[in-house]
Amino acid sequence: MRLHLDGHYWTYTEPRKIQWNGESIDGLCIREPARQIKVARRLRGKHRAEVQLHELAHAASFSDSEHFVTIWASSTTELLYATGVRLCRKPGNAGGAELIRNVLFHTLRIARHHLDDDEGLRPVADDLTRALRRLGWREYMSR
Ligand SMILES: [Zn+2]
Repeated sequence: MRLHLDGHYWTYTEPRKIQWNGESIDGLCIREPARQIKVARRLRGKHRAEVQLHELAHAASFSDSEHFVTIWASSTTELLYATGVRLCRKPGNAGGAELIRNVLFHTLRIARHHLDDDEGLRPVADDLTRALRRLGWREYMSR
């Protein structure tokens, strides 16, 4: 699958195994030799969602800090799940784009308040929202 983030296309795959420096890892985002995002196929549920958001955050390149990306992806996944958004396997309720975009925008706004103005954050929130929707993030409702 191709995802568009920060002005570039990224190839998203879910390999059986991801190796880095001889270790098995959950996710990876690399720029060379080609832009790629990988999330381990074995991951499930909210953890899978968090790893996806973490790697997308690296691709969106709004922070160089691994610590920041880790905290932001973890907290933002928690907030999205608290609002009823889920990573779904099957296409279902197509709703949720506005909700996802809103939560992403405001978590970025809180986190990056000293660096960016609101206009600069909007395209980042839009890119991430589109990518998450393609990966199956939805507002989940049992109505
Ligand atoms: Zn990372």
